Amino acid sequence: MKIYVNEQKFQEQIKTYLKVFYSNQAIDFSLSKITDNGINIFVDNNNTFIEYVEKAEINKIVKSNYNEQDSINKIKDLKERTKQQNRQIKRLLYFLCREVTEVKAKWGILTGIRPSKIVVQLMEKENKTKEQIKEILKKEYLVADDKINLLLKISTKEKRVLSSRIKGEINLYIGIPFCPSKCNYCSFTSYPINLYKNQVCMYLEKLIKELEYIAMMTNRGRTIPIRSIYIGGGTPTSIQAKELKLLTDTIRNCFDLSLIKEYTVEAGRPDTITKEKLKILKDNLVSRISVNPQTMNQKTLDIIGRKHTTEQIKSVFQEVKEQGFDVVNMDVILGLPGESIQDVKHTFAEIEKMNPDNLTVHALAIKRGSVLNSQASEVLSEKLAEEMMEVAISSAERMNMEPYYMYRQKNIAGNLENIGYCKAKTECIYNIEIIEETSNILAIGAGGVSKVLNYEGLQRIENFKNLKDYIERHDEIMEKRREFFEKRNSY
Ligand code: SF4
Repeated sequence: MKIYVNEQKFQEQIKTYLKVFYSNQAIDFSLSKITDNGINIFVDNNNTFIEYVEKAEINKIVKSNYNEQDSINKIKDLKERTKQQNRQIKRLLYFLCREVTEVKAKWGILTGIRPSKIVVQLMEKENKTKEQIKEILKKEYLVADDKINLLLKISTKEKRVLSSRIKGEINLYIGIPFCPSKCNYCSFTSYPINLYKNQVCMYLEKLIKELEYIAMMTNRGRTIPIRSIYIGGGTPTSIQAKELKLLTDTIRNCFDLSLIKEYTVEAGRPDTITKEKLKILKDNLVSRISVNPQTMNQKTLDIIGRKHTTEQIKSVFQEVKEQGFDVVNMDVILGLPGESIQDVKHTFAEIEKMNPDNLTVHALAIKRGSVLNSQASEVLSEKLAEEMMEVAISSAERMNMEPYYMYRQKNIAGNLENIGYCKAKTECIYNIEIIEETSNILAIGAGGVSKVLNYEGLQRIENFKNLKDYIERHDEIMEKRREFFEKRNSY
């Protein structure tokens, strides 16, 4: 799709937004007005308008209305004015592109990854009522009614969980960047365990150094509260049982776990889970565990490079239940290569038989760095994506679950969203915190990104992604830990 815009500064936002409608096409900007096929955008103080050109004819024009233009012209602050102009352009593109492409774009002009954050802020900081928020989402952001209802449901739940947080508390993330094999949609930091098993010991040694430092700085979580612990990856359970024991014993010795509200381990791949490992986790007071099938169709598991069977998922789930963890989560991905609506129905029918406490429904996001991206896979249509999501929603309802957190991603299948569902009172605190960004997240391990809140707002502190750097330059990592506590202390 060729685009012309008379002011260059709007190009980036336009490009991002047009991907909602033209997900399969490249968006190219032209230096001169389009005269054959494409879109011309004219930003003007008197009249901003957009033309759709097809076969050398102007087929459609959308124009800003007087009141909107007038209120933008009155804004003195240049940054705010550009922000409002960007929104105005997106609104005009929304009306034009919905008509010419028939894409519904139910998220209106919202393109950010955290739409619920906008709603929580309107609730908490601006004290808006539900009716006022509905009005803003509908008129200003052009969000469809079903997405507005979803956002309000989620934000109300999130607000309840967030209201019990203590100022200055920490959520601790521990990254284990090893997996049994690489899934072809994966863009995370992940090293195949077979090739890297000799480095696990060194890696854990460095992690333990970080944990001991945090234990000292927080007085085992007694002076500075630690609200949740989340061990993710990678696949944490891909390390050997004795290594998992070393890690979880250390955590138990470092912190007063009776003060911690939630302790999750992402077991992820069923081919890494054994009875022995589950017992270690249970004995060390892990409360929430995630077993992630992604799909219950064997042919898809084979295509995406997950080297386990659907039968393994079922038997591991059974073992997890037998151990008696408080909450068990399962992750599913919609839009996996070659999956039909029947495949998705089959997956959810199988999940319902297992009946987990939490269900996280992701829409496939094809990211740079993944094998799938290099294979230029077909993008899921909006219609099929919606149908798949409806299957997921009905299934969650049958399991008595409600949505409790959500986020969106770039290049996400069918312009959908990722939604976490839960049974009553089983919301994952860490998942809400990472989306809403209203508490400190201290992330340790390779690829971890800490977020510290202080008077200057939210600041990110990134660890080295690369395993070698993380191990060999660990003095610099310890410096980052000190930086985290220094910044937090100014709060
Ligand atoms: S299990 Fe997760 S982290 Fe590991 S390769 Fe697959 S998607 Fe990536």
